[in-house]
Amino acid sequence: MKPGADVLIIGAGIVGVACALECARVGLSTLVVESHMVGGGATGAGMGHLVVMDDSPAQIALTQLSCALWKELQPDLPGSVEYDACGTMWVAADHEEMAEVERKSHIYSNAGIVSEVVTGRKLYEYEPNLRPGLSGGLRVKGDAVIYPPTAAAWLLDQAIHKGSKFQKGQAVREVHEGGIVVFENGDRLCARTVVVATGANATKLVPGIALKPRKGHLIITDRYPGHIRHQLIELGYLKNAHQLTQDTVAFNVQPRRTGQLLIGSSRQYGALDSRIEKSITAKMLERAFWYLPHLKDLLCLRVWTGFRAATPDKVPLIGPAPNPVTGRPMEGVWLATGHEGLGITTSLGTARILADRLVGNTPSIPWEPYEPLRFSLQKGPIP
Ligand SMILES: Cc1cc2nc3c(=O)[nH]c(=O)nc-3n(C[C@H](O)[C@H](O)[C@H](O)COP(=O)(O)OP(=O)(O)OC[C@H]3O[C@@H](n4cnc5c(N)ncnc54)[C@H](O)[C@@H]3O)c2cc1C
Repeated sequence: MKPGADVLIIGAGIVGVACALECARVGLSTLVVESHMVGGGATGAGMGHLVVMDDSPAQIALTQLSCALWKELQPDLPGSVEYDACGTMWVAADHEEMAEVERKSHIYSNAGIVSEVVTGRKLYEYEPNLRPGLSGGLRVKGDAVIYPPTAAAWLLDQAIHKGSKFQKGQAVREVHEGGIVVFENGDRLCARTVVVATGANATKLVPGIALKPRKGHLIITDRYPGHIRHQLIELGYLKNAHQLTQDTVAFNVQPRRTGQLLIGSSRQYGALDSRIEKSITAKMLERAFWYLPHLKDLLCLRVWTGFRAATPDKVPLIGPAPNPVTGRPMEGVWLATGHEGLGITTSLGTARILADRLVGNTPSIPWEPYEPLRFSLQKGPIP
């Protein structure tokens, strides 16, 4: 069998290409294989909000590390990546949500993340188009926005520049112990480590892993520069985004460098059909109009859907894959998936942890919370 490389990465979404760059950086020979196009999966469908999230210590550690890595990269990013340090405004509709603002600001402060509690008039100085009568918000100045498909393409170019190889147009059909990859046309390749970075599709190559697709819709408007200045998110988003069973929508609107507004977001479990659902987009718009009444006067250009790869504990899977039969580590097969709605942000942190572990360096944050075996070893062999 033809030897591929030290590391063979399946999937050129933002996670796969970030892993390629980090692996090349630590001196591993790297090959990325992609069935379709760079950034054409969830990466191309995502919003590109680089955000520190505080749902769990593991989530805060990975998002914080990743946002810091994006900031480090920022001076080198080409204009096409549209990095915009617009920050996030978490909007509090009422007093109950203001209590959440205080709680969140405490957590951020303990983690060393600068945030500003905003009340009354100040909210409207920052965001004049928000509906009157809101209680306030939490402004996180360090968060940013990028355009994910061009970011993925640029990361891959950087990896290629460091010696990584890229092969497009052939789907992987199977992955086996010993780092063996079988393509749809029957060709085989082997590598010391195969990294499955195929997003929500990862269960096709490694059955039984704790991963489910979670459908999302996004809507984009024509160009209205200055309509909003921060990524605006309702605090209720936290409640809604973490519902594990019901369909949810939340107010989440992003200003793009182009002047366009990207309107999100919805979350659906069990919806495997990528078709646009008018009932969902209607709910998203209703929610968005409530917070930003003038949105009603703007022209929407396009709607699309994508699938997030969701794990039960909302933390990604980074490390050796569990064998579908024994639940033990598969020799030579690793996972880098399960990033749900945070994979654009956490691609860089994921890649750093993965590459550090592959060469025996200690990652800068504890890697154990992301260990894929956390599910299979608890349950024993997967039936
Ligand atoms: C509506 C929506 C909004 C989002 N908003 C944000 C946000 O604001 N911020 C954020 O951080 N994240 C966001 N996300 C999440 C983010 O987009 C994903 O977590 C991230 O793109 C996952 O990247 P990935 O590389 O793991 O997967 P993908 O981008 O899906 O890439 C997987 C790649 O693998 C390839 N592939 C699949 N199977 C095979 C095979 N058998 N052989 C070869 N290649 C294969 C695919 O073609 C694809 O290119 C959002 C997601 C959605 C859907």
